[in-house]
Amino acid sequence: RDRRFNEQELEVLEKLLCSLLYPLRNALLYQHALQMAQKDPLTGICNRAAFDQTLSAEISHALRHDLQCSMLILDIDHFKAINDRFGHIIGDCALKAVADMAGRCKRDGDLLFRYGGEEFVVLMRDTGLAGAALLAERIRSHIAGHSFECSGATLHVSVSVGVSAMADEDTPEALFKRADDALYQAKRGGRNRVCLSPQDSA
Ligand code: GH3
Ligand code: MG
Ligand code: MG
Repeated sequence: RDRRFNEQELEVLEKLLCSLLYPLRNALLYQHALQMAQKDPLTGICNRAAFDQTLSAEISHALRHDLQCSMLILDIDHFKAINDRFGHIIGDCALKAVADMAGRCKRDGDLLFRYGGEEFVVLMRDTGLAGAALLAERIRSHIAGHSFECSGATLHVSVSVGVSAMADEDTPEALFKRADDALYQAKRGGRNRVCLSPQDSA
């Protein structure tokens, strides 16, 4: 307003501000804590807790609206050897680099999570097995084709990827299990490769 506040009004305003300050600050802190609980502090991407919540919601949504939905699980090959040779700090840097590369390869609507250690998951909305296989191969070949710098060391890693696509009356656990089985098949097949869930290709 264009008139000065008088002393009495200022006193009231100050009291009101004091009572607003702490609840507002607490609400902001709470909101920040909620966001942080869903984030992996190392890579900055969504974490396992966020994945568990999102997966059920995405599958329910896809089943209800008769949409496709698929998943890939990516695991860095021989990652333990990176830690053993260069140390865990450089290993952490490699994890960040892989998360960045996978993030750059995916489309905006795809959701990337760090599932655990050196394992990442991408959920693809409205995408069937063939589309998911394309993204998986794009990520695999991009990572295999690029080296990166970590504290002066030049690193090069490869990833193995398992892919599954949602079937009728699927469950989050079953979709995940099929991608995980395909991942193990990729590992057994020699690593640095993409395998599709055989049930889903049929
Ligand atoms: P494979 O090709 O069979 O996947 O071999 P691998 O060495 O990648 O797999 P393994 O499960 O034997 O080792 C995973 C390694 O990932 C071991 C663990 O120390 C490392 N790791 C897990 N989380 C982190 C992390 O946050 N930072 C670092 N630096 N290393 C991690
Ligand atoms: Mg692993
Ligand atoms: Mg591994």
